[in-house]
Amino acid sequence: MLLEVRDLHVEFRTRDGVAKAVNGVSYGVDAGETLAVLGESGSGKSVTAQAVMGILDTPPGRITGGEILFRGRDLLRLKEEERRAIRGAGMAMIFQDALSALNPVLSVGDQLGEMFVVHRGMSRKDARAKAVELMDRVRIPAAKERVRQYPHQFSGGMRQRVMIAMAMALEPALIIADEPTTALDVTVQAQVMDLLAELRREYGMALVLITHDLGVVADVADRIAVMYAGRIVESAPVHDIYQTPAHPYTRGLLDSVPRLDHKGRELHAVKGLPPSLLDIPSGCAFHPRCPTARDVCRTDAPPRYEVSENRGSACHFWRECLYG
Ligand code: SF4
Ligand code: MG
Repeated sequence: MLLEVRDLHVEFRTRDGVAKAVNGVSYGVDAGETLAVLGESGSGKSVTAQAVMGILDTPPGRITGGEILFRGRDLLRLKEEERRAIRGAGMAMIFQDALSALNPVLSVGDQLGEMFVVHRGMSRKDARAKAVELMDRVRIPAAKERVRQYPHQFSGGMRQRVMIAMAMALEPALIIADEPTTALDVTVQAQVMDLLAELRREYGMALVLITHDLGVVADVADRIAVMYAGRIVESAPVHDIYQTPAHPYTRGLLDSVPRLDHKGRELHAVKGLPPSLLDIPSGCAFHPRCPTARDVCRTDAPPRYEVSENRGSACHFWRECLYG
């Protein structure tokens, strides 16, 4: 297994108390595999990714337990310089907001080239040539000219292509994309997602795709992990989850996705709001919103039930949900 997150716990100290952002997340990603991590905002999907990348640097954030194994080594036990070497060459991240992720005062070419200067010891001139090549690769037109331009001179979609180029520069084994298309227009979203999927296939990279949009994952992902209140509530191969969700929350999310075969059916998102991470509900954290909650759900936190060999559900009543 390329990446294995084991029982990860992350807390944030806030003025109002301790926010439990990640509460025992475990998942694995094989080489070349695409895992979609799905959840509402505040479900812990980005925080988990930031912990994996080693960029959980917001001062109050703290990893309080667990392991993050990359090619079998626990990243949480490495020195910062070893970590930095893995970042870039081993794994890279694409952020939602390319404008704030890129350096505004460096040309795009200098930023792309920097990767090759720092990690590959290339000359500035060779690095510049590599930058142009990469920009071509992500289909930015007139790369030779645009390599001198600054991030603000690019459209949102083109900027996201630059981010993808940065992430791919050193051909990492793993890319984590955190809502990579959320900030873009719908048509541009599809183009950027297609590009990402194409490059992933071509380079055989593993991809962790973080999204709140079930609509985008069906074509791209091999497996889905659904997060709620800092836990994975269901994980399964993509087609299984679409056909027969084994958790009421997943079912709710699926019902909120417009589908052709559901024409005319009323759209309803999952009712209610995600809980405050300062005060996560007892038992099953989903119980205040769950249409099938019972007494036991308020007192007993469901473990991960093995639904089948590579499926899990954290619902006491997963059988009813599955065969319901
Ligand atoms: Fe709903 Fe209970 Fe299952 Fe939680 S454990 S999802 S509250 S039925
Ligand atoms: Mg997020």
